[in-house]
Amino acid sequence: MKILILNCGSSSIKYKLIEMIGEQTLSYGIMERIGMHDGLLYHHFQKEGELKEKKLVMEIPDYNIGIKLIINTLIHSKYGVINDEKEISAIGHRVVHGGEKFASSVLIDADVKQDIRDCIELAPLHNPHNLRGIKACETLLSGIPQVAVFDTAFHQTMPKFAYIYGLPYLLYQKYDIRRYGFHGTSHRYVSERVSELSGESIEDIKIITCHLGNGCSISAIEKGKSVDTSMGFTPLEGLVMGTRCGNIDPTVVFHLIGREGLSLSEVVTLLNKQSGLYGISGVSNDMREILQEVKANNSRASLALEIFCYQVRKYIASYAGVLGGVDVLVFTAGIGENVPLVRQKCCEKLDFMGVKIDKEKNELAIGKEAIISQQSSKVKIFCIPTNEELIIARDTKKIVEILINKETKN
Ligand code: AMP
Repeated sequence: MKILILNCGSSSIKYKLIEMIGEQTLSYGIMERIGMHDGLLYHHFQKEGELKEKKLVMEIPDYNIGIKLIINTLIHSKYGVINDEKEISAIGHRVVHGGEKFASSVLIDADVKQDIRDCIELAPLHNPHNLRGIKACETLLSGIPQVAVFDTAFHQTMPKFAYIYGLPYLLYQKYDIRRYGFHGTSHRYVSERVSELSGESIEDIKIITCHLGNGCSISAIEKGKSVDTSMGFTPLEGLVMGTRCGNIDPTVVFHLIGREGLSLSEVVTLLNKQSGLYGISGVSNDMREILQEVKANNSRASLALEIFCYQVRKYIASYAGVLGGVDVLVFTAGIGENVPLVRQKCCEKLDFMGVKIDKEKNELAIGKEAIISQQSSKVKIFCIPTNEELIIARDTKKIVEILINKETKN
């Protein structure tokens, strides 16, 4: 069974085609600059046992044409990996917001599309594009089942006291204002993977997962279920990120409007796009560049790095309190997987709760699965590359198999 995974953004589409026998990636890529004359497609494909790359530049006026081009590329005689689009058994879509409606992945039908539409208010920058992708596939790959896998679903297990804010309760009832949490598929993947790697049942371990990429979030996981997470009503809450500010006193917003004369939408842009590592350092949102500047004794870059790691450490200690202890700590995503210095700094001073990182193992763990704690560490520390697409593919396969079974019984 071959499953196409789509992650549709405002002007980009990420895709992956996975052969579920052996869970092997046949092709993956990203289409950028949709809606522009100089659209780009970076396509990677397996041919004769080798991973190859093809870059295509073309006009991509809209989503339908974009997805059509991706399909054409997948079936292309030279750089395609399948002969016919009918070889695609199902499509799995990453959908950012499922509100309170979805605690797990679902087969997409008219009702589900309406529910995704209803959540647009909660995720205006994401859900509309996810829907556009779904509709384009309905037209272009008619009859192929589509599944929605929500970023928020994994966190639907949080207890009410973890997701209700200290605001008038009426606002939750009227406008669904609460903590939702994001990066759910990533937190789910690494927590399941760490249970496999450590050979311990997920039911028996308390896990803290640190997804540190351009967006960052931490989750506390008990018996395989998310019980708290740092992102909130939107992905702005929690840690300092690439360009997002994370937790601040909400009064700052009013102060900015008064003192800087900014409009509300300008403040939203400032908090989401001009803050975080980028805003503090004045250099970049990219950790690689921050690290270079730190080496060059740039004090603002050093401050950005310190703040970033300090906040992760604060959350780790606080989530140990949430869980009543911790057995496993996981680092994942671009920074978590690749930057030993960040992992080391995030674990500083945590020996009191049994977190002891192994310097050498940590230095060697770059972009690969590894245990990076000392033998004597009570808490096992892991570096695990995330694989959100695999979770989407597995959920899609499960749902489609149920559908096929039902159809054959009828
Ligand atoms: P993500 O959002 O998961 O793609 O992560 C993006 C972040 O990871 C950026 O801050 C990158 O600088 C950082 N990153 C990715 N690869 C590396 C690497 N090899 N070394 C340092 N930082 C990296």
